[in-house]
Amino acid sequence: MKALLLRSVRLMRPAEGSALDEVDLLLQDGRVEEMGSGIAARAGTVVVEREGCVVAPAFLDLHTHLREPGQPWKERIATATAAAAAGGFGAVCAMANLRPAVDNVARLRECLAKNRSWERVPVLQFAAVSEQLAGQRLAPLKELAASGAAGFSDDGRNALGPELLRQALEEAGEAGRLVAIHPEDEEVLAAANPWGGDDPTSWLLRPREAEVSAVRSALDALRSSGQGRLHLQHLSTRGAVELVRGAKREGLAVTSEVTAHHLVLEGPLTDPEARDRELACNPPLRGEEDRSALWEGLADGTIDALASDHAPHESPSDPLQRRSPGFSGVQAQLSAALSDPRGGPLLERVVGALTARPLAVLGPLSVSLPEPAVREGQPAHLTVFDPEGVWRPEPGSWLSLGTNSPFWEQPLKGLVLATFSRGRVAFLRRELGWEVELA
Ligand SMILES: [Zn+2]
Repeated sequence: MKALLLRSVRLMRPAEGSALDEVDLLLQDGRVEEMGSGIAARAGTVVVEREGCVVAPAFLDLHTHLREPGQPWKERIATATAAAAAGGFGAVCAMANLRPAVDNVARLRECLAKNRSWERVPVLQFAAVSEQLAGQRLAPLKELAASGAAGFSDDGRNALGPELLRQALEEAGEAGRLVAIHPEDEEVLAAANPWGGDDPTSWLLRPREAEVSAVRSALDALRSSGQGRLHLQHLSTRGAVELVRGAKREGLAVTSEVTAHHLVLEGPLTDPEARDRELACNPPLRGEEDRSALWEGLADGTIDALASDHAPHESPSDPLQRRSPGFSGVQAQLSAALSDPRGGPLLERVVGALTARPLAVLGPLSVSLPEPAVREGQPAHLTVFDPEGVWRPEPGSWLSLGTNSPFWEQPLKGLVLATFSRGRVAFLRRELGWEVELA
């Protein structure tokens, strides 16, 4: 591997508070060879000198849908993890709602083997909490944890009753794993969508109360379990943020995440049909009142992680046809957050929510990831980005098979230049003079 010299970069140290140093960094043979000032470039070294350039520990996404095995026309492991690397992620957590769901050990082993064959960056595979995500019977959580499940989630669905959630928290907790839930109360959703059909993921009307109610009952289950760790996925409402803030003050073992799209986009709230065609996601995009609460939650630490909920789908052949909810988002997480006027001033918080905080949320891991710190002599596990650099998601720059991004062809601020994962180059922007073949 050639050497890469990054001159006068701002080094972010999210695990040690928020110190920002300006240093030179020499990367060679997958290691941080030298850190300091005035490092001399040797022959053959690629030198990057870009004002304001930041180096941070490689990002970790707590919430990615790989679609493979099961729906390879929507996304592949190789393309999702290449898109993740291009978004600055050095590892991703894959959700269990594959077709079929990852709810038994044989299925988990199949996924782990496939992930290892195709991943550009390490995939931490989640398993389902309940069989077929149906909320009726728990999956064998302890066996799944022992076989390599990084955590548990029925994400997409939230059919688990409070008693089963309490049991799941206990069993997963004993195995050192968290239980993550998609907090939308399916009874509230059913009442809002009386003619919605059988599939709760396709229901159009998703009131705030569905989220607030689901968060409240999940916190009650955590209280009554007395053990285990609960993680609340993709918060979208002020009410949910306030409940989580209170629960953390109370000392409950709860963590939460927000997606960039919920932070920065506003839904066309008065016309659900239009929203369904253009900006459909579960939970839906909300208004300014909720978005400001999400930013406050990120700023004060109520919200731990910025997670993508990367949900690639094919485009419907008929533009008026309803498309599946969710966005292909892993490549644009950092940039979408930094493109909002509230994102830039919170740069250190945003980076913390992409690095040290999500790692702490996961807790003990089945796959070892490096500490969230850039240190001399260590394998390079880091992301280099220019917070002011502008790019556009478009065919030439987009690595996911799903182009269902609300940011498609929009200028975004925050340009990832390079991602190293566990000592290997995972992504390098062409301008740096290297080409990396797609897996
Ligand atoms: Zn979800």
